[in-house]
This record gives sequence, C-alpha cells and structure tokens, in this order.
Amino acid sequence: MNTNLPSPRVEITCNHCLDELYNDGDGYTCHACQIRFDPDPFSGNPGEYLDEDASPCGATPTLRIEAFELRDGKPAKITRDPCVLPSGHRSPHLYPETFEIDGAQA
Ligand SMILES: [Zn+2]
Ligand SMILES: [Zn+2]
Repeated sequence: MNTNLPSPRVEITCNHCLDELYNDGDGYTCHACQIRFDPDPFSGNPGEYLDEDASPCGATPTLRIEAFELRDGKPAKITRDPCVLPSGHRSPHLYPETFEIDGAQA
C-alpha cells in the first residue's frame, strides 16, 4: 500500500446552507437549518424538522414578488413564499420560489 496516495474524501452537505451534515447514527442533521435528513443521503428525500413541534420561521422576504421581462419580451415573475425552515434556524432564510412565464407556472 502506498500511503502517499490520496484517500477518498466523503463530504455530505446541506443543499440549502452547504454546511457539512452531522451523522448521529440514525441520520444526517444540519444544525444550522435544524433539519434531519434521511439516513441514506443518496435518497434525495427532503429533510424534516429536527424538532417535530417547531413552527416555521415564517420570515417574509424583502422582495416578495419580482417581475421582469425575458429577452424575448415575455413577462416573467418570481414569487417568494415565507421561510419554511423551523424557527430558530441559524442558516439563511429559505424562501420557496415560484417562477411564472407569461402567467403560466414554469
Ligand atoms: Zn442547512
Ligand atoms: Zn427563516
């Protein structure tokens, strides 16, 4: 074995805040977002609140509706909902976005 060669580096991060996830044996946790993820990080399943009784943060984005024109002149609009992370999270707020082109959801 050549110990000068590199070993693989496995890093699993939160898809929102990009913090490295903590594996406590039953699953992966993002402490900054207060979210617990599936034990199989390759499942692609969304996480759940670490504290099931926590309520959503609910912070409202400064720019809730952003309207603009695409290069071809079609009107487009991004609507941002209030933050869905549990209250007390330390990561940036997560505002789900809906994107519309010419009045239809894109
Ligand atoms: Zn996170
Ligand atoms: Zn928030």
